[in-house]
Amino acid sequence: MNTTGKTKKELLDELEKIRLELQGFLERSDSHLSKLQKEYLEETIFINVSEGILITDSMCRIINVNPGFTHITGYTPQEVIGRKPSILKSNKHDQQFYNKMFLEIDQNGKWQGEIWNRRKNGEIYPQWLTIVPLGANRSGFLGIFTDITRYINKDIKIKNPAYYDPLTSLPNRHLLHDRLSFMVSHAKRNKKLMSVLLLDINRFKVINDTLGFGAGDLLLQTMSNRLQSCLRDVDTIFRLGNDEFAIILEEIAQPQDASRVAKRILAVCALPLQFSDHELYVTSSIGISIFPTDGEDMETLLKNAEAAMNRAKEMGINNYQHYKPAMNAKAFEQLTLEHNLRKALKNNELMVYYQPQLDLATEKIIGAEALLRWKHPDLGMISPAQFIPIAEESGLILPIGEWVLRTACKQAKTWLDTQNKKIVISVNLSARQFQQQDLVSTVNKVLQETGLPPRYLELEITESLGMKNPELTLRTLRELKSMGMHISIDDFGTGYSSLSYLKRFPIDTLKVDRSFVMDIQTDANDAAIVLAIIALAHSLKLKVIAEGVESREQSQFLLEHGCEMVQGFLFSPPVTPEEFEKLIAKK
Ligand code: C2E
Ligand code: MG
Ligand code: MG
Repeated sequence: MNTTGKTKKELLDELEKIRLELQGFLERSDSHLSKLQKEYLEETIFINVSEGILITDSMCRIINVNPGFTHITGYTPQEVIGRKPSILKSNKHDQQFYNKMFLEIDQNGKWQGEIWNRRKNGEIYPQWLTIVPLGANRSGFLGIFTDITRYINKDIKIKNPAYYDPLTSLPNRHLLHDRLSFMVSHAKRNKKLMSVLLLDINRFKVINDTLGFGAGDLLLQTMSNRLQSCLRDVDTIFRLGNDEFAIILEEIAQPQDASRVAKRILAVCALPLQFSDHELYVTSSIGISIFPTDGEDMETLLKNAEAAMNRAKEMGINNYQHYKPAMNAKAFEQLTLEHNLRKALKNNELMVYYQPQLDLATEKIIGAEALLRWKHPDLGMISPAQFIPIAEESGLILPIGEWVLRTACKQAKTWLDTQNKKIVISVNLSARQFQQQDLVSTVNKVLQETGLPPRYLELEITESLGMKNPELTLRTLRELKSMGMHISIDDFGTGYSSLSYLKRFPIDTLKVDRSFVMDIQTDANDAAIVLAIIALAHSLKLKVIAEGVESREQSQFLLEHGCEMVQGFLFSPPVTPEEFEKLIAKK
């Protein structure tokens, strides 16, 4: 932006001048101006001004934007032409705001004011916008705006965005650094304990991706209000970015005080949240570090609270953890893990284990879930929960996933041929694999190579994966389904499925997530969720498999309520192919 150095008043005057010039140009351009004059004006005004300009037709569809628009919003002309300006909305304003805007355009022939919009990268920012109708017969609208982020200061009642997060009005990371180092030296001088809590909302990205920025923003604002309701006046909350918050508890008497606050926060943040017709259940993870035991300076306290937060995430939903020195060693391990994983495939360190899936009524083994195992020469068995995320991030999941698919299909074909056992083999697909253009042809190739009839293959996808791009999912699933294989939705109940899509997806089975099955006997809510999933599945003519069944009571409950299939330690953990053969030979 070349507005540097101007005052806000100068900027607004300039903007008004450009607006008048441009409006005049557009109104006259059809009749009075020569071609040369038009070209000149178009070049000087439309192309060269740093302000953003957009022109719509009478239906409010964008027909042209200038380079200034692209510079400010991040959208190229190709991305916006034909769409409505509402794609720029930040959701900071309600419908009434827009109604008033259009009323004013109708009555006064113009609207001018400050509005918060969203850039393509998701950032929301303030702009000074002028909208005028074009031509006497309103053949369209002209919008001209400038980014006024740098002009926003106390005199327009908004906190300085360099130090405050515009969405929640909470102080940001910069201010945290300033304040925390000050608080640490204060605590040092007065020989007091203090605590840093880092909070991360679990699976925030899923909510943003599936329900949109509006839901994400609402969630963050609600979280910010809920956090404030849990704390004393002397405690400070910061929004560090995305879905991360920091809380500083000054002057605590003992470390357990921080645990108490963490528990309270987790309970309040887990309350359901209404977003249009969705009820969102979110969980968070909190890491705690205490001054001076876990660090005597700001950097160490933050680093250690983060290590504790990562540990809390691993421990499961709605968890908090105090920092322990072993946690940093763990982070280092993660780094070397990726390096090792690259070698694992080549060195035959990966294996596939099989967990039996049983028909609940007859307890006969009818299927097996293929579960990846990594036997590291020095570190021993590494859990997929630990290395699959690394494989996803690094892209290694693609060759690894294809290897699992091929190994599992080959195995099922062997059982079919040598023992005449019709085992349907379930293979987990990661999001990254599912987004590959050539997924269908890869699966086809593997089936051809191994000779496994497609009806003996089931692919497991997760809810969130399917909802990310429902139309694409629908297309891919239809293709896979038409080849004859089965599709199941894994970890069902933990994501945010839209029922209307679920109905359209050509799926066969819902897999009830282990976390619900686990407490079926003790938690009435979990029992109710399982029953609801069974009822939902049956009404959509889908089968249900419960995973993580560990006790007779659980399996009895599931049987009584119409669940068709089970898998879990009660029957067998995942085992080697040799052990699996023994299991099927018995039945
Ligand atoms: P998942 O697909 O939901 O698999 C079920 C997990 O629950 C397995 O963990 C299994 O060992 C465990 N489990 C089964 N029954 C019980 C039980 O009764 N009690 C308990 N406590 N656990 C039980 P595992 O093998 O550690 O795999 C974890 C996750 O890693 C899987 O969850 C899946 O999401 C992922 N994964 C495993 N193999 C692959 C793979 O080949 N590709 C991809 N993309 N992901 C995989
Ligand atoms: Mg699975
Ligand atoms: Mg699962």
